[in-house]
Amino acid sequence: MKFYSTRGFGPVSGAEAIVKGLADDGGLFVPEIFPEVSLDDLADMAALEYPERSAYVMSKYLTDFSYEELLEITKKAYARFDGEAAPVTKVDDGLYLLELWHGPTLAFKDIALTVLPYLLTGSKKKLGIDKKTQILVATSGDTGKAALEGFKDVDGVEITVLYPAEGVSDMQKKQMITTEGKNVHVLGVNGNFDDAQTAVKKIFSDPEMKKKFSDLGYDLSSANSINFGRLVPQIAYYFSTYCDLLNAEEIELGQLVNFVVPSGNFGNILAGYYAKRMGLPVQHLIVASNENDVLTDFFSTGRYDAQRPFHKTISPSMDILVSSNLERLVYEIVDRDPKKISDMMSRLKEFGFYNVDEDTLYDKAPEFLGYSCTEGETKDTIDNFYDDYSYLLDPHTAVGVTAFFKYLDEVYDDTTPTVVVSTASPYKFPQSVLEASCHVTEKDPIKAAKRLSKMTSTEIPEAIAGLNDKPILHNKVVDKADIPVSVLSFVGGKK
Ligand SMILES: *Cc1c(COP(=O)(O)O)cnc(C)c1O
Repeated sequence: MKFYSTRGFGPVSGAEAIVKGLADDGGLFVPEIFPEVSLDDLADMAALEYPERSAYVMSKYLTDFSYEELLEITKKAYARFDGEAAPVTKVDDGLYLLELWHGPTLAFKDIALTVLPYLLTGSKKKLGIDKKTQILVATSGDTGKAALEGFKDVDGVEITVLYPAEGVSDMQKKQMITTEGKNVHVLGVNGNFDDAQTAVKKIFSDPEMKKKFSDLGYDLSSANSINFGRLVPQIAYYFSTYCDLLNAEEIELGQLVNFVVPSGNFGNILAGYYAKRMGLPVQHLIVASNENDVLTDFFSTGRYDAQRPFHKTISPSMDILVSSNLERLVYEIVDRDPKKISDMMSRLKEFGFYNVDEDTLYDKAPEFLGYSCTEGETKDTIDNFYDDYSYLLDPHTAVGVTAFFKYLDEVYDDTTPTVVVSTASPYKFPQSVLEASCHVTEKDPIKAAKRLSKMTSTEIPEAIAGLNDKPILHNKVVDKADIPVSVLSFVGGKK
């Protein structure tokens, strides 16, 4: 399998795409074709365990790895999870939750970020690269901790995470700034997520910065969801969910299902789209957004307009105005024309918007529907869902469930089995969840987690139970303009 940049560069191998992260022309790597998985293959996959299903799906794309190599990777990665990596829970007739938060940091990013370090070191070995790698990550909260956990103490790698100093939850921040590991750096940025992400993209596309890192013995790479190595483990859980529904006799082979995905940078739901293109029977892919509703507008009008107020919400991992992975979908919509993509992305950078012809959008991507919800609606959903099903939703998943209810209101006769992708543990956002479900205000995240546990008779996950006792190891906060210098200093010997 070969990979091309959405803006024309290529071809490269899977290993090269993973090592590079972002293409030299600023584009995102995409596979030359969507490999096929037939219904017979799906039926076979249903008999397998999660690490095997995952290795099977990944082997379709990462052809420079053998299935056995990939299986060794997925086995090691998913052994770090508490039980199953991607269990499906039935909450009502035709309504399921895919729980992707049983990994080390309690959010869905763990699915890919426990795998990526192995893919990266494996790819470097295959390419004969003995230079060290500087991983640069911009985070809206959950990616940061998941990347730090995945890459800490991995040989030949330094990892630097940039987070918006006032734009992540207290728990997310606590998780990040207490991370141990000799190769780990965490930097607060005075700005929002888009500022952090823009700074990272700028460093990647700046030849001078590249040279400076190179002179220090480092190649730059990204663990953000723009890296194809992040995307490919995510495709697997869409297939795995289908297999689980088959095994539980909730669906028949070939039957269509819907997925609802709480979305920010568009990486999670894009993986669902790839699964559909590979042959998974999917009817609708429902893009759920919070008050940052740029994707909702895009899917209803074809206009992507990032010029709008930025809202800080209780689902911070979705507080995003520039959804990087959308570029991969738009690439398919414009019939893989790299020139068109380059033009649109320059337009976005310069003017803050681009347009896709509305008819073309519906013609090429009819499976996508977007819904957004207010903070009040999200809180009500957490409250009602707990009352109705005794199930605690985290605020991101609650955005997904709210979007599903809106979808049902609009398409009221749809009885297609629907899976809402649950992206975080409620304990990752304990103050908001406690307030919404039990109507109790508690500012301290650990205290809130304890009260939530008591009031709902659910258990606090180990990953956060001990956080308060950990020392703060990273407390540096910088202005946007100072990011490049700070990042360089981490590998330049100065700490
Ligand atoms: C990252 C994240 C999202 C958004 O996923 P994207 O792939 O960026 O669309 C949603 N919920 C949670 C909890 C997340 O951590």
